[in-house]
Amino acid sequence: MKTIGLLGGMSWESSLLYYQIINQRVKEKLGGHHSAKSLMYSVDFHEIKTLQQEGKWDEATSIMIDSAQKLASGGSDFIVICTNTMHKMAKEVEEAVSIPLLHIADATATEIVQSGIQKVALLGTAFTMEQDFYKGRLMDKFGLTVIVPNEAARKTVHDVIYEELCLGIQKESSKQSFLAIIQSLVEDGAEAVILGCTEITLLISQQDCRVPLFDTTRIHAEYAVDFALRTDNCI
Ligand code: GLU
Repeated sequence: MKTIGLLGGMSWESSLLYYQIINQRVKEKLGGHHSAKSLMYSVDFHEIKTLQQEGKWDEATSIMIDSAQKLASGGSDFIVICTNTMHKMAKEVEEAVSIPLLHIADATATEIVQSGIQKVALLGTAFTMEQDFYKGRLMDKFGLTVIVPNEAARKTVHDVIYEELCLGIQKESSKQSFLAIIQSLVEDGAEAVILGCTEITLLISQQDCRVPLFDTTRIHAEYAVDFALRTDNCI
């Protein structure tokens, strides 16, 4: 079994889910007392959030690279960045270590393509919904059509993520707002919705929605286990 290097803390609310899902999946696959071999380097999210808000992406990239190098030198066989947004600098992180990085968008897109879905809505932070590093990868590498909420709805989703979900707060009113946003995306032709922020799964679940939800936290964590249990190193 390979050792999973988890770059977490963004926020720790969702890193907790990664740890749980990863160990549950190893137990399901191997049984008995088996659990995942893993390391987690957990950042101080206040520092990251401040750099994001100030647009200091170079400094944020340095923290991500430093954290990934700590995971690599600590014995990780590959890196899992436990957030969608901080895949903005996935390429720089990947180039700074000699071990593979399992990209969250690739894991998610692979599952979407397998399900035969073509047009998906993406919910996440403003960075994820508005910039190209994530949407572009889904479209260019996997041929998906990706739509995002309108500007006001994007602000709602972004604010709920940072002011509530990353602080461990789940409000019924926010859940209803998210469901209304999803409904309007479905009316615009979305066949499914990507929960493209690792905390959204704390607010809404499949039973709340009629269209399929692709939960990036679960998908990425399970993908990591499947890779850890394979003998080859091909991503
Ligand atoms: N966990 C979130 C995500 O998946 C947002 C927090 C962050 O900025 O990394 O995008």
